[in-house]
Amino acid sequence: MEYETIIGLEVHAQLLTESKIFCGCSTRYGYPPNTQTCPVCLGMPGALPVLNKRAVEYAIKMALAVNATIHFESVFARKNYFYPDLPRGYQISQYEKPIASGGFIEIGAGSRKKRVGISRIHLEEDAGKSIHPESELEGETSVDLNRCGVPLIEIVSQPHITSTQEAYLYLTKLKQLVQYLGICSGNMEEGALRCDANVSVRPKGTEKIGANTEIKNLNSFRGVEKALTFEINRQIEILRKGGVVEKETLLWDEKKQIISVMRTKEEAPDYRYFPDPDLVALRVTKNWIEKIKKSLPELPDQKKARFVQKYKIPEYDAEVLTSSKELADYYEECIKHHPQPKSVSNWMMGEVLRQLKEEKVGIKELQIDPKDLAGLLKEIDDGTISGKMAKEIFHQMAHTGRSASEIIRGKGLAQITDEGYLTQMVEEVLKESAEKVKRYLTGKEKLFDFFVGQVMKKTQGRANPELVNEILRMKLSKRRNA
Ligand SMILES: [Zn+2]
Repeated sequence: MEYETIIGLEVHAQLLTESKIFCGCSTRYGYPPNTQTCPVCLGMPGALPVLNKRAVEYAIKMALAVNATIHFESVFARKNYFYPDLPRGYQISQYEKPIASGGFIEIGAGSRKKRVGISRIHLEEDAGKSIHPESELEGETSVDLNRCGVPLIEIVSQPHITSTQEAYLYLTKLKQLVQYLGICSGNMEEGALRCDANVSVRPKGTEKIGANTEIKNLNSFRGVEKALTFEINRQIEILRKGGVVEKETLLWDEKKQIISVMRTKEEAPDYRYFPDPDLVALRVTKNWIEKIKKSLPELPDQKKARFVQKYKIPEYDAEVLTSSKELADYYEECIKHHPQPKSVSNWMMGEVLRQLKEEKVGIKELQIDPKDLAGLLKEIDDGTISGKMAKEIFHQMAHTGRSASEIIRGKGLAQITDEGYLTQMVEEVLKESAEKVKRYLTGKEKLFDFFVGQVMKKTQGRANPELVNEILRMKLSKRRNA
């Protein structure tokens, strides 16, 4: 029997605001535990929350980017549960009336394009962090409340995702969007983007959706892929044996690469949601939304389409080049100095990306300025250096931060294209190999390569080979006709 998979993803994105969502505390990451807290985010009795306008603006940006409907009125609610990293005993979130709903994110390319529906986007505050000791024998669990009250948006997808691959594409696109919008760093390792997945499997062709499990704690792209594969196989195995999948919350253990049961899944009623009496309803005006809309940057899909149209590069190139805004900016800056879109694109997709992967850095950390990469490509097109030399020079540029011209001139790497000088070298070679020239003229055509080799030797391999060939052919045919 064949099975099909139904996946819905809930993604939490930490918003890049300076201060927290309901107080003035800083949101900076990596500061000593509990140094960025105040009575509001510590949940002291009587301390009242005040909403951060920038957080709302960022949520609206996201909603606009995925074509969601923004609601003029939304309501903050208390989600009640007890956990040591939640000092108030409830999380302020949005429940019945979220800030936005509907919309979609498009994934895939060409004929495999697909829209994954968005069910809702809501604003909420983050909880703190429990820090567990390395082993149970040493020390005890402590809590860091710096993260309490950091603004989040939760983006809940429809159960439209049908494979691990699609889940990966969806997350990649989502990360790309928040980074383009500048509302979230997208850094999964720092927890700025976190994902929970709802997974269920059913025999192909059946209508009924079985119980789904929720996997928590997916904090890397590889983790998502591995955990989903693990869980899909686990559920198929249960169904094959005639069993029933239990509705559970599962925890993915990145270190051990296994899934364990966290608790039986709670339902919404367990949280006893109710509107937060400390906060008035959030009202946004049409004018404000329009203003935010006008401030939106060019988004990945628009940029990709423009690259194809303006620079006449293949869709695949445009897709790769617009994968991050920084990479796209680098490309366009390079073209300004060397208006050869396809050759710039080839170099970026080849050497540049290889270098970034090797150094494990982003384009911003690359030691080569776009202007200098343009300079290097110009040297190739001018015939000063060969493509092979260019690759070597590129690596030197990446390691030293020097320009192509500095390296070429400083190292004498430049190809010799001086016709007078090369003619002189050719004449010398022909004179020194008089015997071989005779044999060549009587039909030993293969000796031609030998003469080329001798010229290259004399010039330490720096002679422009095409030019050497041309001069040699001319000189030899003159001798034949003499
Ligand atoms: Zn605070």
